[in-house]
Amino acid sequence: MRRLREILDEPGDGQSRLDKIVRQISGLMVAEVCSIYFKRQDSSLELFASEGLNPTSVHRTLLKRGEGLVGRCAELAIPVNEPDAQKHPAFSYRPETGEEIYHSLLAVPILRGGVTLGVIVVQNKTPRVYSEEDVDVLQAATMVIAEQVVSGAVAGIGSAVEISKSLSVVVKGEPISDGIALGHVVLHEPRIAVTVLLSDDPEAELGRLEAAHIRLHELLDEMMKQEAMSAAGAHREVLEAYQMFANDKGWIRRMRAAVEEGLTAEAAVERVHNATRTQMLRQNDPFWRERLRDLEDLSDRLLRILAGRTSASDHLAELPDDVILVARTMGPAELLDYDRTKLRGLVIEDGSGQSHVAIVARALELAAVGGAHRIIERVSTGDPAIVDAETGEVHLRPSPEVIQAYSDRVRFRARRQERYQSLRDSPAVTTDDVRVELNINAGLLVDVPHLHEAGADGIGLFRTELQFMVAPSLPRYEAQVAMYRQVLEEAKGKRVVFRALDIGGDKVLPYVRHASEENPALGWRAIRFLLDRSALLRLQMRALLTAASGRELSVMLPMVTVRSELEQARELIANEVRWLQARGDAGPATIRVGAMIEVPAALFDLDGVMGKSDFISVGSNDLMQFLFAADRGNPKVGGRYDAMSVSALRALKSIVTGGQKTSTHVTLCGEMAGRPLECMALIGLGFRSLSVSPASVGPIKAMIRSLDASRIAARLDDLMERGDGNIRTSLKAFAESYSVEI
Ligand code: PEP
Ligand code: MG
Repeated sequence: MRRLREILDEPGDGQSRLDKIVRQISGLMVAEVCSIYFKRQDSSLELFASEGLNPTSVHRTLLKRGEGLVGRCAELAIPVNEPDAQKHPAFSYRPETGEEIYHSLLAVPILRGGVTLGVIVVQNKTPRVYSEEDVDVLQAATMVIAEQVVSGAVAGIGSAVEISKSLSVVVKGEPISDGIALGHVVLHEPRIAVTVLLSDDPEAELGRLEAAHIRLHELLDEMMKQEAMSAAGAHREVLEAYQMFANDKGWIRRMRAAVEEGLTAEAAVERVHNATRTQMLRQNDPFWRERLRDLEDLSDRLLRILAGRTSASDHLAELPDDVILVARTMGPAELLDYDRTKLRGLVIEDGSGQSHVAIVARALELAAVGGAHRIIERVSTGDPAIVDAETGEVHLRPSPEVIQAYSDRVRFRARRQERYQSLRDSPAVTTDDVRVELNINAGLLVDVPHLHEAGADGIGLFRTELQFMVAPSLPRYEAQVAMYRQVLEEAKGKRVVFRALDIGGDKVLPYVRHASEENPALGWRAIRFLLDRSALLRLQMRALLTAASGRELSVMLPMVTVRSELEQARELIANEVRWLQARGDAGPATIRVGAMIEVPAALFDLDGVMGKSDFISVGSNDLMQFLFAADRGNPKVGGRYDAMSVSALRALKSIVTGGQKTSTHVTLCGEMAGRPLECMALIGLGFRSLSVSPASVGPIKAMIRSLDASRIAARLDDLMERGDGNIRTSLKAFAESYSVEI
């Protein structure tokens, strides 16, 4: 490796250096042939240098993507070791190379940050199986080559070597926050690039490796302790797997051996990582794929420790102005650590639209895509990227044509947005003069200005749990009062409906003990949890009552299932009012207490529930998941049943009718209200108050202002009466024929 490094430091152009490298390796490995192929933009492989093959084939021989054993090595990113390559079914014979006399072949991918740049191949006349040591030697060589290629030291090789930086890739995921963003990638917890490969002082490097390994153990122990305290147990298995890896004697031994051969501690971590990765990728078993992620994470952590970075946020200071943040997983608090003025888009490998980071992304108006499988290994910090959260596609290193097309779309969206902006001060009124109250959903202070920017009537759902979820510990009473007061102040007299803490289910607070449950969505959550943990509810109600002193306070209770839950909560609130009054605080001028209808049982006691509520709000996200018994967070079933079907529409209609019968104010705050077609149906059902995400206010207002409410009501009655056919299709046809903006 030292010799290879020296070659790369010698004067000369890129080609002559590559020629020297292949000569050196073929001598070292006693191989008759050593060749280097680089991947071109179209994923074909071009022979760039060879010792042993016909010199005229260099730059002439091109292998199509996946062609032959070399193509296979590049495609699968694994070594190919064949004693008699010509007998292999995938062998592809290239007469111009004169390779017919060679039998054995060893090909190793040249990888950089998980991206295949090319392949290095050795061949021999006699059939032989290359040893593990041979594979190791070639792998070490690929590290040097990749490093030099990417750093530009091997200049003048031509367009093919720009591959790592210019290869365009489209990764498909799920949109989790609407928008289109163009910018440059910043990797959350970025992989440290190993730049110094060789060391003259193996003793010192061993010491560094040892110390970093001890620190890694300490960090894992700390994480484990925190995990035990949170008692959610969800990450315990992962951490146990980490600890198992960190203790793995083979892993440590291999890294030490690499240092003893003259590598720096960082290069040793990288090399062992690449080798283990190759072995694991051979396994098709998803278990091993998962373990590979663990190993990658551990290697990354070790590299960060060696680089003296203990926190993932050290690099936040030098952000570009148009950040496309790419993360494996991410919590809402981590996202909020970034400078919002620089964030444009977000891509997460894991994470669905229901995840909390998605909620924060929507609040920050970032274009965001989740479920972007294996994106981390295909991207580097600084890469240009486009997040298309209309389709769920992420374009990495897009071509100028793609950038142009997206810039046009961004301009188009901006024009549309301008049009919505022009509706800001116009009310949401139908063409037949029906006024619809249009509120926004919010949960963070950053959401509140949207209330005025979008021209909404108020905040129909303030998810108070978000403040709790992004905080490292339970927000104290004073912090809660300050937050609620600020929200009310910034709302400038418009109504705000605060929802009592909706935690449990998927919303876990790290500092609140919550035993793991078989069915968390059906478990100890929302009002069930609050009534059992009444101190928490009492504290929150006291904070709300204090913050709203002298004004109106609207509070709603999540997941009310039976009327007695409302009675208990109201009793608790009344006690708090008395407590405050006894201390001379008159409390709010008026108090409205409402129930969220999210559980089908409540549909069958609407009189009872409405009788005890000052207003009700339909949480259609949960109501639909329980009505159809289809987990809202599971993409396999979450989208299986249509809310525009007769059963769901009848359920929703019964709530409107119940509200009319009991003179109860009815609103709906689930995601369906924010989709123009669904919203049109809701107005047809008789809903006159809705709460949607801030970005949906414009499109929904435009839809309402182009709709005739009595006409859609008649059409919907008819469709529900008939109960057959595809209601969604019929609604689309309705919108089309009456020019409703959906
Ligand atoms: C709902 O369930 O529709 C709702 C608005 O609440 P959340 O999405 O916070 O559960
Ligand atoms: Mg809900």
